[in-house]
Amino acid sequence: MSIALPMLPLRSPTASAWPRAAKASQGGDPPPAPIEAHREGVLRDSHGRVIHDLRLSITDRCNFRCVYCMDPEVRFFGQDEVLTRAEMVRLVRVCAGLGIRKLRLTGGEPTLHPDLGGIIADVASLRAGADALDVALTTNGSLLDAVSLHRWKESGLSRITISIDAVSPGAFAALTRSASRVDAVIRGIRAAIDAGLCPVKLNAVIIRGRNEDQIVPLAGLAREHAVDMRFIEFMPLDSSHAWDRGLVVSAEEVIRAVSAAYPLVPLGRDDESSTSESFLFADGRGGRVGTIAPVSRPFCGACSRLRITADGKVRPCLFSTTEWDLRPLLRGGASDGQIRAFIIDSVWTKQAGHGISSDTFTQPDRPMSAIGG
Ligand code: SAM
Ligand code: SF4
Repeated sequence: MSIALPMLPLRSPTASAWPRAAKASQGGDPPPAPIEAHREGVLRDSHGRVIHDLRLSITDRCNFRCVYCMDPEVRFFGQDEVLTRAEMVRLVRVCAGLGIRKLRLTGGEPTLHPDLGGIIADVASLRAGADALDVALTTNGSLLDAVSLHRWKESGLSRITISIDAVSPGAFAALTRSASRVDAVIRGIRAAIDAGLCPVKLNAVIIRGRNEDQIVPLAGLAREHAVDMRFIEFMPLDSSHAWDRGLVVSAEEVIRAVSAAYPLVPLGRDDESSTSESFLFADGRGGRVGTIAPVSRPFCGACSRLRITADGKVRPCLFSTTEWDLRPLLRGGASDGQIRAFIIDSVWTKQAGHGISSDTFTQPDRPMSAIGG
């Protein structure tokens, strides 16, 4: 039975507040972490969690305006505000020296970056201890082509995640508010598989009253292409600030819906810090279904992630309301040692959890598109 809930607005009175309003939440320099944290040579927060995954947003621009992410009237950072390729690569090198093993390039839409291929080549050549840095990409998949995918793979990109919230053209258009067609994204998925960027993972955000009817077709897409389809719970990171708990379709509801069409076998979490729980199809068909449930089943205790935004802010948590600005150091002649110390201090401030369910929860000013998912 469905209940009547407000639709996410197409326009929002807060749309023009970003990015101006976010300036108020910048924290200057982080307070110094204890000397042991600096001696250790890894990124550890004050709750004992070790950070080894970096999400680097390389642009806040996007060709989509997903209802749960970005307002149509969003204003983007100016060219000079966004980190250069050299600045991004330098930061990743410093982080790799601090125990970061996995890097995910994201955005905004990273395939809009004119030098994505160069960034991939630069970061994939960096070492993370004895191994090469593991480099992945998250994209909306609308601009993928076989030639670029093969080139990125040869340059060292190991995996790709493609977001797709609907299989039906009408639902896809309504959710993404873009001129792109879902067929183009599905062709991109096929091309990514052919390029060997495996495992190809698909992400979908399900919003009540919008695309619950797409859950089973999306699971069908995973079966058809033998890929992982992960359903993400809608988080309060939309630029219109229209998030409401009633709009969240929980992981449990998703699994119930998929199981009714395709019985599933639970596999559990891939590893302790993994954000997703996985399921196989009971009939042995290829592909998997996964859920990412930050709202109904928070996994903050095992969080190993750090984010750096396209404009050079360190965000220890997806939901940080204070962020630490690296750009003045990068552009002010700071040494690698100073940048390293700044990142260690920033990570030390990571909050224990997102607190979405707390009465005192405050949604960050910065929408997901400008954070990097
Ligand atoms: N543009 C690329 C894309 O859509 O894959 C990369 C950036 S996007 C911000 C990264 C991921 O964040 C996407 O899978 C998207 O669905 C997810 N996302 C965006 N806003 C979200 C929200 N409010 N709640 C949950 N996931 C969200
Ligand atoms: Fe763009 Fe990705 Fe946000 Fe959609 S989710 S608006 S594709 S950044």
